[in-house]
Amino acid sequence: MKNPIDFDRKHIWHPYTSAVEPLPTYEVVSAEGVRLTLANGKTLIDGMSSWWCAIHGYNHPTLNEAIQTQIKSMSHVMFGGITHQPAIQLAEKIIDITPKSLEHVFFSDSGSVSVEVAIKMAMQYWNAQGRIEKSRLLTIRGGYHGDTFGAMSVCDPETGMHERFQSVLPQHIFMPRPQSRVNEPLDPLEKTILEETFEKHHKEVAAVILEPIVQGAGGMWFYSAEYLKHISSLCKQYNVLLILDEIATGFGRTGKLFACEHAQVEPDIMCLGKAMTGGYMTQAATLTNRRVAEGISTDGGVLMHGPTFMANPLACAVSLASIELLLSDDWSNKIAGIETQLVNELAKYKSHSTVVDIRAFGAIGVVQTKEPVNVSALQKVFVKHDVWIRPFNDLIYIMPPFVIQPDELLDLTDAIGIGLDSIETT
Ligand SMILES: *Cc1c(COP(=O)(O)O)cnc(C)c1O
Repeated sequence: MKNPIDFDRKHIWHPYTSAVEPLPTYEVVSAEGVRLTLANGKTLIDGMSSWWCAIHGYNHPTLNEAIQTQIKSMSHVMFGGITHQPAIQLAEKIIDITPKSLEHVFFSDSGSVSVEVAIKMAMQYWNAQGRIEKSRLLTIRGGYHGDTFGAMSVCDPETGMHERFQSVLPQHIFMPRPQSRVNEPLDPLEKTILEETFEKHHKEVAAVILEPIVQGAGGMWFYSAEYLKHISSLCKQYNVLLILDEIATGFGRTGKLFACEHAQVEPDIMCLGKAMTGGYMTQAATLTNRRVAEGISTDGGVLMHGPTFMANPLACAVSLASIELLLSDDWSNKIAGIETQLVNELAKYKSHSTVVDIRAFGAIGVVQTKEPVNVSALQKVFVKHDVWIRPFNDLIYIMPPFVIQPDELLDLTDAIGIGLDSIETT
């Protein structure tokens, strides 16, 4: 075989890269706990949890066993006209742990698809009520909801990675990015903007869609719970549905099982994904309440979606095992410990010449730089110092597996300092 990295470079597309001049890739041959092992034998402490997913770390015996047990009875079967124990048990568990009013589950294969399903639910709901004018979505700047067309239409038009598609996307309504920070009250000026927007647009709006408290890939921004709370009350007042995208925040990442709990808010529709399977497979879910589910089903109405791999039994089995593993542990103390350590250790970079802002919330730490970073140069520095951190734009951020130990987390935050110094000198 030719040099595998050369083959990769020549023939395989990686996320958001050029086919002819891609960023460098590193070959990983195995992963265990919080460590990735590279083909050259080097091991790296993982700061990314494979994009929010691998909350229990890699190669976990409990999760391995769940998949191995399931594979012996069935790997997959169609979900049209068929049901199975893994789906039933997982749905029961998810309904049990999510806000009380959410009672109906639609399984799909990825986060973006679960957002498409959420949008369809909202549109179909108003359609079935004869309110066809309610066909737009309302959201905030700085959001990210996935890469498919419906999801792209509610991503931030600039930071959401999809600006080149603007001309073909449905035009939804964007409010400014929330300015009131997490753990702070809602700024009265922002409150007014929210109220004016609802007042002006509510008749044409089917739903508000938001990432609760933590905006992820659109800018790694943490905003006030009061902001979310106020949106939720305006939704009720103006008869607009609320969709919360918990794909990144769900399953403990922010210190609550679901980020909406910080604001004591119950959405009409909720999207789950990423950490649901513990990072083992791809699976997502869209949940809704009885009002929406029964509304869609008026006069024989059906929800028009049905992925081939819907409720894949392997994915359901490992999701259930991952959720049970999370709940069996003192997870909220673990997250609180990670948060305290991130707050303390990132604070020392606040006055670094290259830095504009540092922030930490739950098991997420962010250092925002003055200029966009050179991703491949910085990544090289990180790998040299035995950590896996993948910055984007002006953001160096980590969201490690929950099982990370304090000395390992210190290695990550120390490496960020080394990375910042390397920016300064280049
Ligand atoms: C990652 C993400 C998505 C998209 O999920 P995929 O599984 O990549 O399709 C949607 N919303 C949020 C908030 C995400 O972080």
